[in-house]
Amino acid sequence: MFNVTTGLAIWCAEAMTLALVAFMAWRHDVRNRTYLYWGIGFLLSAAGFAMVALRDHIPTYLSIEVGNAVALSGQSAWVAGYLALYKRKAEWWMLLPPLVWLAGVFLPWVNDDYANRVVLYNLASATGATALAMAVTSPNGRGDAARIKLAAIFVVQSGLCFSMAVAIGLAAPTDLQAANYAGAAALGTAFLLTFACALTFRVIMERSERHLRLLSVTDALTGVLNRRGLFGQFESVQTKAFDEKRQIAVLLFDLDNFKRINDRFGHQAGDAVLTVFARMARQYTPAGVFGRMGGEEFAAFTSVVDQTEAEALAESIRAEFCRVPISTGSAIIPATVSIGVALASPIEANMDKLVSAADRALYAAKAAGRNCTVIFGEAETAAPVPTEPRRNSGELVPTLDDQIHALRRVGSLSRG
Ligand code: GH3
Ligand code: MG
Ligand code: MG
Repeated sequence: MFNVTTGLAIWCAEAMTLALVAFMAWRHDVRNRTYLYWGIGFLLSAAGFAMVALRDHIPTYLSIEVGNAVALSGQSAWVAGYLALYKRKAEWWMLLPPLVWLAGVFLPWVNDDYANRVVLYNLASATGATALAMAVTSPNGRGDAARIKLAAIFVVQSGLCFSMAVAIGLAAPTDLQAANYAGAAALGTAFLLTFACALTFRVIMERSERHLRLLSVTDALTGVLNRRGLFGQFESVQTKAFDEKRQIAVLLFDLDNFKRINDRFGHQAGDAVLTVFARMARQYTPAGVFGRMGGEEFAAFTSVVDQTEAEALAESIRAEFCRVPISTGSAIIPATVSIGVALASPIEANMDKLVSAADRALYAAKAAGRNCTVIFGEAETAAPVPTEPRRNSGELVPTLDDQIHALRRVGSLSRG
């Protein structure tokens, strides 16, 4: 009814094609070992089954003992691929499929009987499918939908191979019948494996898309959100503040005299200062979002109960930055930060307006001598933007309002 050799040839051709696709994908992204292991797995499967199909043309031990062991090693490679995909270390049980085969095939009553060899092969293959299911299952039990689907496919595959082994073992069929059973089981597993493979490639593509999306909103130097990422989060911070009946606070940070730090200690030391500040400040804003606006300017969007909490937060960051020693190896770099804060109720909050108000507060902090915080409450944030020119020949010229404001605020805040 079913020509096993033809079936094997079809699978060999498909496995070789899939191996080629996997190797090409690996060349495109050599750090992703999953494609490499999957390519090796398909290659081993194709080579092993080719040896099995060449039964009458090559020595028997090569076709039976070695051929099946090679084909089953393919499953080990697929398991290794999934372990790599989910960043897990190699496990001993990934070697089980060829080991189960080699442990049984040299027993005379197995070696001499075709039906018993088919039973043994299916038991080894069921072990391999179980190992695949274990490799895709998250050790802590928290798997996403794709992992659950993959695990289900491999459990079905394992069940199919195991049932086939039991059926053949109990029915004691003729060699021809056993060959037909074996062929049907192989077709079923090949179909399930191809399906699993397509699903896996989709998982990898989605993952790399997610990674690219994350990169597009991350600042390369400091690892915090970039301006785009930060602005993209404003709405969620606003919604959270609204739900919690809190105010929304925008904090703008500008490192003081940063140009001088670069000039005195070098650009690399400047980069180190930026990184230290970003990592430290991010830890202080777990309830909100923190990111780099560009250059030596950073911002945080967060929700606060009132102005006092916003002040305390800004001052903690400012004081901690004064305290934390940043070393170039030979010298400690003195670095400080000026902070402008603007508050608004989440219903009225408009990002541009808040950032602009925080910028004016920051400007006032710089005017007040740097290394300090200036806060604009709801009323000041909502006030119309002063029309006086703020810049004069590239120099910061604070308005009288700014200076009065800054002095009023700074007076109440301690200096680090
Ligand atoms: P102020 O206290 O008024 O803010 O003075 P400042 O020197 O900090 O401000 P200014 O805008 O004059 O200089 C900012 C400097 O930041 C100039 C630029 O070379 C430096 N800078 C911008 N981006 C980077 C970076 O990624 N790495 C390093 N090392 N320096 C940077
Ligand atoms: Mg600046
Ligand atoms: Mg600066």
